[in-house]
Amino acid sequence: MAGRHFLFVPGPTNVPDRVTRAMVVPMEDHRSPKFPELTLPLFQELKKVFKTTDGQVFIFPSSGTGAWESALTNTLSPGDKVLASRFGQFSHLWIDLAQRHGLDVQVLEEEWGTGVKPDKIEEILRADKSHQIKAVLAVHNETATGVTSDIGAVRKAMDAAGHPALLYVDGVSSIASLDFRADEWRVDLAIAGSQKGLMLPAGLGFVCASPKALAASKTAQLKRVYFDFDDMTKANATGYFPYTPALPMLYGLREALKILFEEGLENVFARHHHLAGGVRAAVKAWGLKTCAKEAKWDSDTVTAILTPPGINGADVISTGYRRYNISLGAGLSQVAGKVFRIGHLGDLNELMVLGALAGAEMAMADNGIDVKLGSGVAAAQTHFRASNAVGEKKS
Ligand code: PLP
Repeated sequence: MAGRHFLFVPGPTNVPDRVTRAMVVPMEDHRSPKFPELTLPLFQELKKVFKTTDGQVFIFPSSGTGAWESALTNTLSPGDKVLASRFGQFSHLWIDLAQRHGLDVQVLEEEWGTGVKPDKIEEILRADKSHQIKAVLAVHNETATGVTSDIGAVRKAMDAAGHPALLYVDGVSSIASLDFRADEWRVDLAIAGSQKGLMLPAGLGFVCASPKALAASKTAQLKRVYFDFDDMTKANATGYFPYTPALPMLYGLREALKILFEEGLENVFARHHHLAGGVRAAVKAWGLKTCAKEAKWDSDTVTAILTPPGINGADVISTGYRRYNISLGAGLSQVAGKVFRIGHLGDLNELMVLGALAGAEMAMADNGIDVKLGSGVAAAQTHFRASNAVGEKKS
């Protein structure tokens, strides 16, 4: 099909041309004396993305799932008790991974479309007088339902309970798009992936570990080899890796970080909020509802739109792809067929979002959904014109 494909899944996201070009490099010796000139600054720059000064960042040649595994296996022992909330496919998959590693997961089942409930966590931690619970797992942004949870409130709940469990936060679809404060929230293990807010292809997983998490890794008994913090720390200290690193990805990462800091992280967050507002205005104009049950759960990186009864969200996605050259996100597991998702994160501007909304409108109308063509686009245009977060420095 002629023209650019409209990639509007919530990851992988559009890779800026600058990043693509930066990755076209000849292969080189990853043990050369020059190699650390590339790698050492990456660790420092990534710390700014996580908003940490005393944390340590690990870069693994994996996707986000590898980073999940690394965070758990480096810091916990078989049979350790873990408290985790489940309210979407990604919180589910993380719990599944923990269980398959032999962890004893106490699952807090939350309605899909809602998120982490700090008061429930506080209550359970207060009751755990002997501190059997070693870990609290929270997904910051549940990509399957378009729900963002308040991690600062989770930290407050843990403090209020006076509980020493480590706090693990999945920031795969939030970090570098939504404000994330590893130090302020005292996140012990923060997890990110390359293919979302960091605007890279899939292929790198990141873990940011607090000093408390690093101390826990000294005694943690779960098995790990490829994802071992200790091996990484030793090699990374001088800018090397314990195995052959994904070289082009590291060059791409350097450029992506440069782009993020040129815009300014706070401006990046403001842009995501602005663009998300346009999408939400469109959904309202269509007379449809989002999967997020209340405005407080709304995600600024992805919106899951409920299709009317009798209309399969998968058909909307299929029409969009075949007829209009747009990729919309699928409904997963419990919400399969019930939603389609618009990812609005990464290297994105107002006109790109308007294009996606136009495509979604046509695909919905083609499938018998009673939306007025142009209504969502117009609502988003009105929203965009009323505020000017994109491209402008906040004063
Ligand atoms: N966590 C969240 C919130 C995600 O959205 C995803 C993937 O979309 C993952 C974890 C898993 O990451 P990956 O697919 O990179 O392994």
